[in-house]
Amino acid sequence: MNTYARLPVAFTRGEGVWLWDEQGKRYLDAVAGVAVNGLGHAHPKLAQAICEQAKTLIHTSNLYQIPKQEQLGTKLCQLSGMDKAFFCNSGAEANEAAIKLARLHGHNKGIELPAIIVMEKSFHGRTMATLTATGNRKVQAGFEPLVSGFVRVPYDDIASVAQIAGHNQNIVAILVEPLQGEGGVTAPQPSYLQELRKICDAHGWLLMLDEVQTGIARTGSLFAFQQAGIVPDVMTLAKGLGSGVPIGACLAKGVAAEVFKPGNHGSTFGGNPLACTAALATLAAIEEQNLCVHAAEIGSFIRDGLNKQLAGTSGVVQVRGLGLMIGIELDRPCGDLVKLALERGLIINVTADSVVRLLPPLVMSRDEAQQVVDLLAPLIKDFLAQD
Ligand SMILES: *Cc1c(COP(=O)(O)O)cnc(C)c1O
Repeated sequence: MNTYARLPVAFTRGEGVWLWDEQGKRYLDAVAGVAVNGLGHAHPKLAQAICEQAKTLIHTSNLYQIPKQEQLGTKLCQLSGMDKAFFCNSGAEANEAAIKLARLHGHNKGIELPAIIVMEKSFHGRTMATLTATGNRKVQAGFEPLVSGFVRVPYDDIASVAQIAGHNQNIVAILVEPLQGEGGVTAPQPSYLQELRKICDAHGWLLMLDEVQTGIARTGSLFAFQQAGIVPDVMTLAKGLGSGVPIGACLAKGVAAEVFKPGNHGSTFGGNPLACTAALATLAAIEEQNLCVHAAEIGSFIRDGLNKQLAGTSGVVQVRGLGLMIGIELDRPCGDLVKLALERGLIINVTADSVVRLLPPLVMSRDEAQQVVDLLAPLIKDFLAQD
């Protein structure tokens, strides 16, 4: 169906941060399939692991024990400090699991109409509950009636959350991105997550972090919350987790980890041996190649390079981000830049109308990062000089 306004290019092959189209033209990939291909394209160990698993067993269903899923759940819990994991196939589904978990938790506490605090400019997915949680009218328009049980506040505004705490007895959880991706690559105040953690503790609410985009080393730590020195009650993952083999996860800690009982939730494909193998290979490569530290370094390198080359350019509002989640806000809509960059062999993304977004593979080298800067900065300057 006509759900995407697609660019006129088809890629046939990839290697590392490079992609080739049907005509054999080469492109530098600074989007990584929207924060998915963290290991770059055609990573040999990932390909080998997927290949071997496919030759052994792809799927059995959650009616039976799945050792690879148990291994992945254990690994993710070790790495995050969470206690339990539920596996699904996408970010929206991971958030659906979190929303259902929070509601059931509320009902268990005797709250009949549980509500979840969500943020303006957030993005949580395209299912009915997650598009309702999303703070963007474009995502919701035409799909009313929306789902009830959400209360919206501005992002990075502790006062409005505190105010609700005094008035609304139905709140059971906060669902928030540690750094807003689709909303424009916006980081909150450094103390934001800590303050939210305090409010949640004071009122018995669950702090649920949507790390679908920020997770899996994207921001320079395996999970973005680790840089805030807090631990959430619930965390959702997807994008980078399986390096392109669809997999999502909803992790939970403490009371939140004990909410679901058999029959409460499920997924036919969720956490099958193939997807879990891809995720295990992804986590192993991140560890082996030290990609958290690398992402932090290369991210700073790109931001510094862009800041230098774009210094004094009128029309550039701000270069920002964390790790390899980078935003360049301009003072005007800049969707056209995507096609202009493509013509010059560079793959970029634009979000929130006026923010150029870079989500390069975590494996991008310093030399390749320099090429991104050298291609992108003049492009932005030319674009801004046009009118
Ligand atoms: C992409 C994204 C989602 C939705 O993930 P899908 O796999 O497309 O369903 C949810 N939350 C955030 C923060 C995202 O970036």
